[in-house]
Amino acid sequence: MAKMRAMVIRERGGPFVAEERDVPVPGPEEISLRVQACGVCHSDTVTVQQLFPFIQYPRIPGHEGVGVVEALGPGVKGFTVGERVGVGWFGGMCGYCGHCRRDAGFACENVHEVTGVSRDGGYATHMIALASAVAHFPDDLDPVESAPLPCAGVTTFNALRHTGAGPGDLVAMHGVGGLGHLGIQFAAWQGFRTVAVNRGSDKEGLAKKLGASDYIDNATQDPAKALTAMGGAKAILATVTNNEAMQAIAGGLGANGMMMVIGAVGPLTVNSFDLIGKSAGVRGWYSGVSRDSGDTLAFSKLNNVVSMNEIYPLEKAQDAYDRMLSGKARFRVVLRMDA
Ligand SMILES: [Zn+2]
Ligand SMILES: [Zn+2]
Repeated sequence: MAKMRAMVIRERGGPFVAEERDVPVPGPEEISLRVQACGVCHSDTVTVQQLFPFIQYPRIPGHEGVGVVEALGPGVKGFTVGERVGVGWFGGMCGYCGHCRRDAGFACENVHEVTGVSRDGGYATHMIALASAVAHFPDDLDPVESAPLPCAGVTTFNALRHTGAGPGDLVAMHGVGGLGHLGIQFAAWQGFRTVAVNRGSDKEGLAKKLGASDYIDNATQDPAKALTAMGGAKAILATVTNNEAMQAIAGGLGANGMMMVIGAVGPLTVNSFDLIGKSAGVRGWYSGVSRDSGDTLAFSKLNNVVSMNEIYPLEKAQDAYDRMLSGKARFRVVLRMDA
C-alpha cells in the first residue's frame, strides 16, 4: 500500500510527531489530494490545544492545503484527477438543508466538519476532503506562495466584499500582519480608499506598497479620532488578536459603517453611543465556503495578490508552528511537502 508522511498531534498540547501512514482512500463524496503546501495558521492552535471539546487525537492539523487531486470517491462530480485544488477551514456542506438552500452552507445543519480539526488536514503529503469543501485552484498560481489564500485570503477577501462599502469608500485595515497584509491588497484592488492601522511606523512603507493610501500608527494616534477626521470609516476589518485594540478603533466608524470582526479575541466591548448615532454595526464574519475560496483565488490571480511567506519543510512543522505563534513571521508560515 502506498505510504504518506504526516506531522501528527497525538495529545493535547502536542508536540508534532512524524508518522508514516497508509494513503487514505476517499469514501463517497470525498476527494483525496496529494498535498503540495499547507499554510500554518493561528487557528491551528484550536487543534493543538483542543480548543473545541470534540477534537480527538491523533489528529493532523492544517486547513490551508493546496494540492493535486489524486483520486475521486464514489459520487464526486465536477473534479478531475490531476487538477490543482485548495481546502480551507470550511469542511463541507450537504447542499440540501435549510441553511445550505439559503446560501449559508457554512452553517450546514448536517455536515459539521472543520478541516484539520474534526478531520485530518494538510500537515501531510496526502489528505482527504469532502468534495463540497474543495475549491478549484488556478494552475498558474504557485501552490507554496498561494497556500494561505484558501484561509487567510478568503477570510479577508470575503469579509471585505460583504461590508457594504463601495469604490472609493474609506475602509480601515486594522492590523498589518498575516491577515492584514493580504487584506490591504484585496481592499485596494476592490477599489476602496484603504487605510492601514497598526502599532508603530515600521510597517507604514510596506502597507503603502501593498496598496494602502493612508496609514495610522495607533501607538501614537487615537485610531477612532484619526478615522473620524478622515470622514469616518465605511468599514473596518478587525484582524488583530487584541480586544482592547479592537475596542479602541470602533469609534472610527462613519455613518452606516460596519466593523467586520475576523480576529478571534473573545469578549468585545463596544460603546453603544459609537453605534447608535451613526447606525453603525459590528459583525463577525465566517471566512467562506469553497466557492468563496475559488473567487478569492481567481481574484488573486487576476490582480497579482500575493501572500508573503516563510517556508518550512513538512518535517519542521514544529518549528513552523512555533514561528507562527511567535508573531514574528513576515507574514504567513507555509509548509512545503517536497522540500
Ligand atoms: Zn486559517
Ligand atoms: Zn447543509
